[in-house]
Amino acid sequence: MPQTAEEPCPPSACDSSALLLGFVNTAPLGDDQDRMTGPEELSAWLAAGGRTGLDAVVTGADVAAARELRDAFTMIFRAHSGCEDGEAALPAAEDYLQRIAVRYPLTPRLTADGCHLVPAQDGVLGGFGALFAAAVDLAARGAWGRLKMCKNPTCYTGFFDKTRNSSGLYCSTSCSSRAAARAYRSRAKSG
Ligand SMILES: [Zn+2]
Repeated sequence: MPQTAEEPCPPSACDSSALLLGFVNTAPLGDDQDRMTGPEELSAWLAAGGRTGLDAVVTGADVAAARELRDAFTMIFRAHSGCEDGEAALPAAEDYLQRIAVRYPLTPRLTADGCHLVPAQDGVLGGFGALFAAAVDLAARGAWGRLKMCKNPTCYTGFFDKTRNSSGLYCSTSCSSRAAARAYRSRAKSG
């Protein structure tokens, strides 16, 4: 279903975007600490995403996998906001996500109301699978390209672009006015 200007983020798309943005935003932003440094943090993220039945122990290898996934999704969202370094590193990120997706299979869940994909596995693998299911959900709604990283270099927060024509580059008005002021200063300096 294509996005409409009246409803840029329908409720279930918001669930999907919230999951993905919450994941990429565990990265250090500004002066913040990385929030995906060990098994405890990954467990907390999985619990917050409602991944129950986590009887498996979360290991350091799972944390390494989470951080690699996070880097790849971040690179995709940077490309969505037109970051040039995002575009340069994009093929590697796409290749990584295409190769790794086979580890996190999804299953169609059919009802009379519709069909959506859910992770085929529980625990940590299911938690990572939920990220891919969220990506599929957003893409099906035409909203995939609306997940972006803020272009303000002191921010780099992941956000959902709610602008009418998907042209937003900054997470907030304060980030866009800071960028405008910086552009003005550099024009004044060079002019
Ligand atoms: Zn920002």
